[in-house]
Amino acid sequence: MAIAIGIDLGGTNARAAAVDTSTGAIVAWHKEAHADRSPAAVAESTARAVRLAAASAGVPVPAAVGAGVAAQVLGSTGVVLNAPNLGWRNAPFGELLSRALSTRVRVLNDLSAAALGERRFGAARGTDDAILLFVGSGVGSGLILGGRLHEGAGGVAGEVGHVKVRPRPGTPERRCGCGQVSCLEAYAGGHNIAARVREELAAGRASMVRDLLGGDVARAQPSHVEQACARGDAYAVALWDEVAELLGDAAANLATVLNPARLVFGGGVLLACPCLETRVRARLEARISASAARGLSVVRAALGDDAGVVGAALAGLEPPTGAGSAP
Ligand SMILES: [Zn+2]
Repeated sequence: MAIAIGIDLGGTNARAAAVDTSTGAIVAWHKEAHADRSPAAVAESTARAVRLAAASAGVPVPAAVGAGVAAQVLGSTGVVLNAPNLGWRNAPFGELLSRALSTRVRVLNDLSAAALGERRFGAARGTDDAILLFVGSGVGSGLILGGRLHEGAGGVAGEVGHVKVRPRPGTPERRCGCGQVSCLEAYAGGHNIAARVREELAAGRASMVRDLLGGDVARAQPSHVEQACARGDAYAVALWDEVAELLGDAAANLATVLNPARLVFGGGVLLACPCLETRVRARLEARISASAARGLSVVRAALGDDAGVVGAALAGLEPPTGAGSAP
């Protein structure tokens, strides 16, 4: 049994998993919370998680590990360009972790890692051309093209959350966490959906969502919109229609340009909100080019929260490439 180590680096903790590379099973894992979010401190605690996961699996720390980060990552340089939930900009995380572990480190975007995991062991298995579209607190994608992970010249391909969209007339322009306006994620990311609903209800909009929250609109989440939509609440139906138009168009445009065999839906918002997912699928079907629709299957992610850490472990095994040498 060959064991590889993958890391899932999030805003609050680092999870290291020892993965059986023939089955994708996680045989041991360890999680370390970030006591201090500086890149050096996070590299140290991540290194500790790796050592403990390896020890639990009864293997030495391997010669190379992979780390998936919810961030823009400059390909194989290991530099994290922008990680909002860690507050990092231009952090040389790969180098710091490599030094702390005395091992080679491959850092990649979390959805690129998830794409590798789903392709080897999950919903994208057996195809050379697959796109993952994830809607959770943010919106992102992972691209497998021609049998390989596509990261682009600078390592930041697949940032579909930051393509520009036009919401329905009357919806105010919203600023994205990246600093720009009109990004898809500003309207369709779970965090921003929640913020919008809180603002609109606080401003007096009528909706069943308020009743579901016992009037405490500050607690509104996408799940409340989903519940209200399922019961026919006009506000929630209109909001899901709008969000689905934007997501469905983005999915259709991605598929029209890249012609995947499989489109994999994932993420905590999209998979937990069937009213939304149904609408996204309908919009996608209506807007994709007829030629790209031929042979396309739209499926749901299969590995859940483990896709990223499993894919990161696989990425660590790949030989280094030149991707990401350009800023
Ligand atoms: Zn943006």
